[in-house]
Order: sequence, then C-alpha cells, then structure tokens
Amino acid sequence: MTFRSINPATGETLAEFPPDSAAEVDAKLARASEAARRWRRTPVGERAAMVGRLAELLEAEKERLGRMMTLEMGKPIRAAVEEAAKCATACRYYAEHGPDFIADRHVEDAGHRSYVAYDPLGVVLAVMPWNFPFWQAIRFMAPAFVAGNVGLLKHASNVPQCALELEALVRRAGAPEGVFQTLLIGSDAVAGVLADRRIAAATLTGSEGAGSSVAAVAGTHLKKTVLELGGSDPFIVMPSADLDRAIETAVRARTINNGQSCIAAKRFIVHEAVYDAFLQRFTEGMRRLTVGDPMDPATQLGPLAMAKLAEELEEQVARSVSLGARVLCGGTRTTPGSAWFPATVLADIPEQAPAFGDELFGPVGCVFRARSADDAIRIANATRFGLGASAWTTDAGEQERFAREIDSGSVFLNDMVVSDPRFPFGGVKSSGYGRELSDVGMREFTNIKTVRIRVDSGAQSGNTE
Ligand code: NAP
Repeated sequence: MTFRSINPATGETLAEFPPDSAAEVDAKLARASEAARRWRRTPVGERAAMVGRLAELLEAEKERLGRMMTLEMGKPIRAAVEEAAKCATACRYYAEHGPDFIADRHVEDAGHRSYVAYDPLGVVLAVMPWNFPFWQAIRFMAPAFVAGNVGLLKHASNVPQCALELEALVRRAGAPEGVFQTLLIGSDAVAGVLADRRIAAATLTGSEGAGSSVAAVAGTHLKKTVLELGGSDPFIVMPSADLDRAIETAVRARTINNGQSCIAAKRFIVHEAVYDAFLQRFTEGMRRLTVGDPMDPATQLGPLAMAKLAEELEEQVARSVSLGARVLCGGTRTTPGSAWFPATVLADIPEQAPAFGDELFGPVGCVFRARSADDAIRIANATRFGLGASAWTTDAGEQERFAREIDSGSVFLNDMVVSDPRFPFGGVKSSGYGRELSDVGMREFTNIKTVRIRVDSGAQSGNTE
C-alpha cells in the first residue's frame, strides 16, 4: 500500500509515501514509550511552553499550512487558513490554562493531607479523519502534551502530507524525540498497534464503523478510548425565528468544509408556518453558492475530499429519491467519476430513506416539516446520532425545551454549532463517547489518582472499600 496525496479538485497525484514497515512501527512504539517516561517528568510549565511555541508556528505559517490542506483534501482556502489559526488558538488556550486543569485538587480531610492528582496515561494512539486534517489532530494533541502524554498519530490515508507536517511542527516547537510521531499505516494495522502493551489508550475521530472496530479492540485489551463519530445534526426553525438569519446560517452550516463536517447541520426541521418560505429561500441560497477552485479565496464550495466519497453520496441521494424524496436542486455529479458534488436540497424524505437516518457527508440539505415544537423534538431525536443541534426560536419556553430535550452533546440556540476550546465537545448515542476540549477533555487521558497522606496518629477509618 502506498499513501497517495491526491488533489481532489483535479485528480492530480501530488506525492506518494511508502508505508511504515513492521520494524519501523515497532521502533516508533519504542521511541514513544521511552519518551513517555521522560515527558511525564518534564515540569508542566515546560510542556505548556512547548505547546505555546507550537501555537506560534501554526499562526506564523497558517497560509502555508492552509494551502497544504486545500491541495490535499479540497477545503476552500480561506477556511483552511482559518483552521490553522484555530489550531493556534487551541494551543494557546492549553498553554495558558492546561496546567491549572491538571493541578492537584486538595480535599479537606481530617487527619490527612489529601489530594486528587491528574497523572498522564502514557502513549495515546490517535486515529484521525481527513476532514479537518490539522484541527482534529491538534485538539487531541495540545491538551495531551500539556497533560504529559505522548501521541502516535494514525491519520487518514489520504492526508499523508498533513500528517507528516504535524510531526515536523511538534519537533520544531521543541518537543523531545518520540513525543509525537506519525505512523504511516493503513486502517488494517490499527488493531495490532492498539493491542501493543506500550499503548495506554486511544482516541478516534471518524465514522461509526471505525469507532466500533477500535472500541472492540480496545475493549478486548481494556484500554480507555474516546470516540468522536458521525452526526446527523438537526437545525430546527420555529415561527418566531429571524428567518433571514436562520436561512443564511443554514446554508453556511450545511456547506461548511464542502459539507464534510461532523457538526454540519444536516436535517433542517422547519415548522409548517414557515416551511414553504424556508424551503424556497434555502434552495436559492444553496444554488447561489460560488462553486470553484478551492484555492480561489472567493470559492464557497469546492470538491469532496475523494471521488469515492462523491460516489457514495450520490448513491445515498439516488436511493432516497427512489424511495420518494424530492430533489429541489443538485442531486447528481455533473462530471461523473469526479469528486465534485453540487449543492443539493431534498424534501419529502420518507423514514426508510438514507437521507432520513444516515449521515450524508457532503453538501446535501434535507428539509423536514414539523407541526409543533414537540414534533420538531421528535424528529430531531429520531436518529441514532447525537452530536450537535441548532434551534432557532425567540420563545424562551421553546429554547428551554430544545436545550433540555434534544439528545446531543451540544445545543446552540439562534446560532450554528461550532467547536471552541473552552467548551466540551463530543456526542451521545452512535456519535461516540467521551469529550474533547475544555478542562473536561483534557482529563480524559489522565489517571485521576486519589492520594491520601495520613498525618495524625488516630485510629484507621472504618471504610471497607
Ligand atoms: P473514517 O473512514 O472512519 O476514517 C477515520 C480514521 O479512521 C482514518 O484514519 C481511517 O484510516 C481510520 N479507520 C477507518 N476504518 C478503520 C477501522 N476499521 N479500524 C481502525 N481505523 C479505521 O472516517 P472519515 O471518512 O475519514 O471521516 C468522516 C467521518 O468522521 C464522518 O462520519 C464524520 O462525521 C466523522 N467525524 C466526526 C467528528 C467528531 O468530532 N465527532 C469530527 C470529524 C469527523 P484510513 O483513512 O486509512 O481508512
């Protein structure tokens, strides 16, 4: 197997990389294991300073890194540069706050000096997707490094240049050898690495299938995992909403990253009082997007990351249409065999259709009619996913109900769902478990250790467990 970096906009092969041999993988595991022993003893301030230097590099070189992402997976260049800048923000956030998040927590305890410590776990295997090739990796890396963990990255096979660049940046930021390495391995080699005794835990961002495979292996070997999986996020619009803003945001929220974001709004659940207006104007908005070369700063919608993804999406749309869904725009590739898929809107989608229950990972907006807030919540929750949700209403009672009753890892009201280093990020149901970002995410890969030091000479307390 060769790792190919292919520009999805043109189909041109940009670079090829041979995979790591079994001996190279073993050497990387050995280096990571050795580095983990030393890194955990490096003062937290020094670890945070390394992450701070990583922030500076990401910020200073965001244009170059953005171009690398765009060429390798097709996201519009402006968004790619913003992604590199967001990585810098997350690194700065953990450089500044990370040490406090894992500081010992002292507990009042008569006759004892007691505290909770947050020790690193060791070597964490990170299996990452191509859709935000820097951001997904950095949001694991920054807190992990400050916490004293080391990382081995198995990035998606189609972004080897981004994967190798991440390793180079971490070394340039001053991390000792072995603190972060990229493994050039296929997904079939993940189970073997995860089973290795030198791996303490794993984090995976990707599809349900990949999550379930990694969780099964981790379960067999009793290793901690965090899974950030797919989503089919609802975007509810009620009659009291500011319809102009809701529609403008709906188009953006569906087509961000060429429609390939786990937290993109995917199902638009619109109250019947505003349904017709929404459907017509949302469709117009999708049609009006500037489609073109992702390297052009004016482009709003580029190609999908690989031709095979466009083919899969086309099949999901075709099956939905054959079951009765109505196409308002788009629907099929204009250039067969390419990675280019047009902005598409579907309505009247029956429950058996893929567009109802599955994740459509591309610029396809699925519009549903709701009779009431109850009905909207029912449709929102009628999915096996539970990542994010956006709801548009100025009614305080409805806001409270949507916030409490939608089963998802986050609910945004009158705004689109975004990730932010300050807030926990993750899902429920088939969208995964565990959290990234914030203090909560940082502690996922720590050994939360109770330390009780007896300082008086009184009798032992009578607890049995
Ligand atoms: P994917 O096909 O699952 O790939 C993700 C990563 O998992 C890649 O590194 C892939 O390696 C690896 N992988 C695939 N199958 C595996 C297996 N059976 N065992 C071990 N590793 C395996 O997902 P994708 O197409 O790259 O990304 C899109 C998916 O990620 C969408 O479902 C999206 O919603 C989800 N996502 C979720 C979040 C979140 O935070 N919840 C964020 C972004 C994306 P190869 O490339 O070598 O196959």
